Amino acid sequence: MNATPTDPVSDFARLKLSAAALGNLTQLGYTAMTPIQAASLPLTLAGQDLIAQASTGSGKTAAFGLPLVDKLDAARMSVQALVLCPTRELADQVTQEIRRLARAVGNIKVVTLCGGVALRGQVISLEHGAHVVVGTPGRILDHLERGSLSLQTVQTLVLDEADRMLDMGFLDDITKVVQQCAANRQTLLFSATYPEGIAQLAQRFMRQPQTVTVQAQHSDSKIRQVFIEVKDNERLDVVSRVLNHFRPESTLAFCNTKQQCRDLVAVLQAQGFSALALFGELDQRERDQVLIQFANRSCSVLVATDVAARGLDVAQLDAVINVDVTPDPQVHIHRIGRTGRGEAEGLAVSLASMDEMGSVGKIELLQGRESAWTMLGALTPSSGGQLRPPMATLQIVGGRKEKIRAGDVLGALTGEAGFTREQVGKINVNEFSTYVAVERSVAAQAVAKLSAGRVKGRSVKVRLMEDALGR
Ligand code: ADP
Ligand code: MG
Repeated sequence: MNATPTDPVSDFARLKLSAAALGNLTQLGYTAMTPIQAASLPLTLAGQDLIAQASTGSGKTAAFGLPLVDKLDAARMSVQALVLCPTRELADQVTQEIRRLARAVGNIKVVTLCGGVALRGQVISLEHGAHVVVGTPGRILDHLERGSLSLQTVQTLVLDEADRMLDMGFLDDITKVVQQCAANRQTLLFSATYPEGIAQLAQRFMRQPQTVTVQAQHSDSKIRQVFIEVKDNERLDVVSRVLNHFRPESTLAFCNTKQQCRDLVAVLQAQGFSALALFGELDQRERDQVLIQFANRSCSVLVATDVAARGLDVAQLDAVINVDVTPDPQVHIHRIGRTGRGEAEGLAVSLASMDEMGSVGKIELLQGRESAWTMLGALTPSSGGQLRPPMATLQIVGGRKEKIRAGDVLGALTGEAGFTREQVGKINVNEFSTYVAVERSVAAQAVAKLSAGRVKGRSVKVRLMEDALGR
């Protein structure tokens, strides 16, 4: 769902925003509002409580970030806005976006409070003062209970990815946190889907909320949808036939259950594909590693449940495969909307057994058109050999803690080691590790050169993150 830059009615300038805010948006390259922004900003900038539903990647962060930032008073050192998010990853993304938007106001302190990080550093940050707090409900509650955080002066409360927070069992924590927020606040609730629990949340915590929903409308020309009838026992095998036929460079494969995810990854890996699974039960480091390898193009297939994939923002997704058809047609629209972003064409392949034809019917009803079916026999393996991702990931021991920056790694690879800039892909510097994507054909060589050489004047431990086959 991309904004159309030429659409004059969706221009930010028609909103009640300061000249500085408008200038900042132009600098960010935000020339036109996305549909959810166009629908919600006139209401939220006027101070209304709002429930907003729109799919991932539709620009929800700025939709709540702009009214939140608009009300900030930089001169007043108190927590004026609180954003609750389900995971650290999402909290980090929201923090970054709010920092970008707050440039218009000047010196604004945004503090992220999530679990998995020592409390002490967070307490010190809070003592230095914060205008905006972004974090997960559990950790924020910890700070409230220790007295290191007060929410008495909160003017804007945001529940981001509210559906996922409910899925994750945060209702009690959210309730306790909201009860400590100032009563005369604006409350904004953002969600990709609208399950039962959301209405209850809204009833308890919001004042006459307005509701805006932006239905993902994918045009036929952008996303090619293909349905294939399968028997349940051939489903996993058909996934590899789909991959060999269409040869997408990166694919997100959705399963309805965790067990199906596990089974599919095992089958794909056994057949030589580079596939990884995203599970709820991965720890944060494992989850980071999976997402990094997928985003830097060194993993071809990411297998996930809807819950695990929520909030994932990966550009350049060539295909979505619905390994199982979802019983909720809204979820189907949401899934396939991950591909065909921007100018790119997308492919969505759905495997449906006889038992799932009822769900397919619901999807057809919602989309207002019949599905296009392809016969299994039409899937022909292409002659290109094993589908492999273009890149491979090297893990370097040492990260932010060692003050390593992306430039240091790029410098080491393109300097003494003699690689070209084009052979090096994304570089992610985490707290204790750095991940760098390099062209697959030079991966082993890059490990050898980096291990023998120096990064930031020091020798480092480097390993190739092996996918299933260690190739
Ligand atoms: P969501 O929370 O709905 O999943 P995000 O807020 O993360 O979506 O936005 C997705 C991407 O779109 C981000 O990279 C963001 O910077 C960008 N974006 C948001 N609004 C605009 C806009 N009006 N114009 C251009 N890019 C935008
Ligand atoms: Mg979001």
